[in-house]
Amino acid sequence: MKSHVQVAVIGGGVVGCSVLYHLTKAGWRDVVLIERDELTSGSTWHAAGGMHTINLDPNVAKLQQYTITLYKEIEAISGQSCGVHITGGLMLAGTNDRLDWLKQAHARGRYLGMQTELVSLDEAARLFPLMEKKYFVGALYDPIEGHVDPAGVTNAYAKGACVGGAEVYRFTLVTDLAQRPDGSWDVVTNKGTIRAEHVVNAGGLWARELGRMVGVELPVLAMEHQYLISDEIPEVKESAKEMLHVIDFEGEIYMRQEGTGMLMGTYERVGVPWSEHETPWDFTHELLPPDLDRIAASLEVGFRHYPPIERAGIKKVINGPFTFAPDGNPVVGPVRARPNYWVACGVMAGFSQGGGVGLALSNWMVDGDPGFDIWAMDVARFGDWATPAYTNAKVRETYSRRFRIRFPNEELPAARPLRTSPVHDRLEQRGAVFGASFGLEHALWFAPKGGEPSEDVTFRRSNAHGPVGQECRAVRSAVGLMEVSTYSKYEVTGPGAEAWLSRLLTNRIAAPSRIVLAPMLNANGKLIGDFTVAKLSNERFYVFGSGVAEHYHMRWFEAQLPTNGVAIRSLRCELTGLSIAGPRSRELLQRVVAADVSNEAFPFLSFCAMDLQMIPAAVGRITFTGDLGFEIWVTADYQRALYDLLVEAGHDLGLCHFGARALHSLRLEKSFGTWAREFRPIYGPFEAGLGRFVNFRKNDFIGREAALKEKEVGPKRRLVSFVVDAAEADCIGDEPVWYDGKVVGWITSGGFCHHIGRSLALGYIPAELTSAESFEVEILGERRRTTLTPRPVFDPAGKRMRG
Ligand SMILES: Cc1cc2nc3c(=O)[nH]c(=O)nc-3n(C[C@H](O)[C@H](O)[C@H](O)COP(=O)(O)OP(=O)(O)OC[C@H]3O[C@@H](n4cnc5c(N)ncnc54)[C@H](O)[C@@H]3O)c2cc1C
Repeated sequence: MKSHVQVAVIGGGVVGCSVLYHLTKAGWRDVVLIERDELTSGSTWHAAGGMHTINLDPNVAKLQQYTITLYKEIEAISGQSCGVHITGGLMLAGTNDRLDWLKQAHARGRYLGMQTELVSLDEAARLFPLMEKKYFVGALYDPIEGHVDPAGVTNAYAKGACVGGAEVYRFTLVTDLAQRPDGSWDVVTNKGTIRAEHVVNAGGLWARELGRMVGVELPVLAMEHQYLISDEIPEVKESAKEMLHVIDFEGEIYMRQEGTGMLMGTYERVGVPWSEHETPWDFTHELLPPDLDRIAASLEVGFRHYPPIERAGIKKVINGPFTFAPDGNPVVGPVRARPNYWVACGVMAGFSQGGGVGLALSNWMVDGDPGFDIWAMDVARFGDWATPAYTNAKVRETYSRRFRIRFPNEELPAARPLRTSPVHDRLEQRGAVFGASFGLEHALWFAPKGGEPSEDVTFRRSNAHGPVGQECRAVRSAVGLMEVSTYSKYEVTGPGAEAWLSRLLTNRIAAPSRIVLAPMLNANGKLIGDFTVAKLSNERFYVFGSGVAEHYHMRWFEAQLPTNGVAIRSLRCELTGLSIAGPRSRELLQRVVAADVSNEAFPFLSFCAMDLQMIPAAVGRITFTGDLGFEIWVTADYQRALYDLLVEAGHDLGLCHFGARALHSLRLEKSFGTWAREFRPIYGPFEAGLGRFVNFRKNDFIGREAALKEKEVGPKRRLVSFVVDAAEADCIGDEPVWYDGKVVGWITSGGFCHHIGRSLALGYIPAELTSAESFEVEILGERRRTTLTPRPVFDPAGKRMRG
């Protein structure tokens, strides 16, 4: 065993071995894998080995596609068979909603280069003769689905890595991890200590324990999972072709051929967590006792839908545990405040996702960037609110919904409400329909008086359409009030604060009492944040950004922080906010402040401390609605008083509450992009239309060189705004954009814009097409006429905002 290595990967399941392989492929050879038993002795060995490309997040879908295509490569390098069976796969829809979902998945797949095909039921039955057509309404065919041998794949990764210089230490248990002052780790094992520059937690079922060794509680939990293997089925035995991989959403069932029978697995509605608090170290190649009663309801559906399986009977039942994150996606990346400690866990579909996870993590470690958009898998998407009890509630929900549709407007109920702001109950009394953002409840829209504060879930316009329209019109014609506590807020202080912010952000830091808009780039010149920065004094700044990216940004900020002269802290809900927007918002503010807030005294992008009657606040002249507006920030103890004051003072001005849905509609009218939709780390600032906030005349900043190159060469693609000829469904994001019969881009967000009465969307297209006008976007399987609008459809000159 080596005593000093560059990387110690802990865990010899499919994920750890994939990470090891990808590190050697990227050129890092001084890497070892430490496994407490034989390889595969966690959840990997008893997996059904099924693989498919479809995922709600297209970026994860892309990684799944990569994983499947990787098997040939690792077989060739390692000489180890992966037992790959590319049978093709069918996803069967039993309802029209599910068919809509499949159409959407098919459309999204287009710009990812996926070859899926919507097929008729006759065709589906020809491809998979075990099915009863009458239970279905449609199907999607994917030619690259199938199954693999889990042990073969894991060993092929490991052997391939060893060919590249890695070493694998089996039967070696990591018992502790201790960080040295230089940031390297002492990896303490039962066979001695290895000093590693980097540690990767790929502990699968024991990822939590490996997290606790460094004081981190990772949001993962194992669930019991069962599949059965049928006895011989004559139709299978006699078939000239291997049976397809099949997903039947109605029965929460997946299937593939196993020998001359079928393997059928199912996700039960009331799943059972395994080892809720701690995973036993002596659990190795073991199975859990089967409990067919728990999956009886799904099996009945399965037997009805596939009568030959029922006729054959059950030969064997497997019950084994595997881990999930609260949202079902992997948990990957560097962990905040734990330098050189990386995670690759919560991978619930190791044979579809393991390759992509290994690639992303190794890129990140070697190049400092995962190389593609992995926001949906980033460990930083969870905050410290994702406690074990939260994770437990959410994972049960995720497991129970594994094959259920998540509608674009659907807010899932488990573990809510958890974080609430002081005005939560006030908003509730007003009929607010809530969503959760980074664990914090916030109003999405308000049901009219006497109406039910709940939303129908649908791919089309919902019952919120009318009320959201009212909210938008009230903002544009009078004044609206919205809570904005979900934004992230950071306080940056110290003599070095300004220089540090200026090195981090692309724009020049504003003068005192002013706000500036400033993107943040990584060294490759890609967008990793967009902020508004307010200068309170020479040594004190507020930085506002996207709430969901709080940990993501804090991880970056802390990693860039000098040892002295600057301090940063997230204000979370210490600082809470209300925003007022619309042509009468100034009148409202003026009624409650002594200061002059006229346009001359308090112009656009001002930021000042101000008392609103008895309430000390900081007020910014800015709003994301694109209208005249103000954001008012107070410590949490004042938020209710502030709310009551504004509601009372605004009553005769036509004050209306508005929520996140209306804000979305209003910002689309102004072509304003937002974090995690238009702005993500795969786009440069010029592509994203943020070039005017990149100041090359100021001091050096991270990403400057790459941004300059982007500017000089010219962006390859551009963020543009479209007016969509939509029917009853608007764009929601990830729809393909067609031009001249070809898919040329994708939508990042869309929706109905009530003030202008049109459906709009934002999306990326090749730069050379920005002067074209007529495009199409594919919504629920239909290509809708779409017109590019070079300027925002609302107030293109920004007179309202600035006036
Ligand atoms: C019944 C069942 C069916 C499944 N079917 C499929 C399927 O069809 N398709 C699919 O893609 N996925 C399937 N899965 C899920 C799949 O098994 C997981 O996605 C995959 O195994 C996750 O691999 P992993 O490497 O993250 O974790 P694990 O396999 O749990 O590996 C973690 C490894 O880390 C080691 N380890 C942990 N702590 C230490 C330590 N302190 N020191 C040394 N070593 C340590 C463990 O011994 C273990 O070998 C199924 C799972 C089950 C249970």
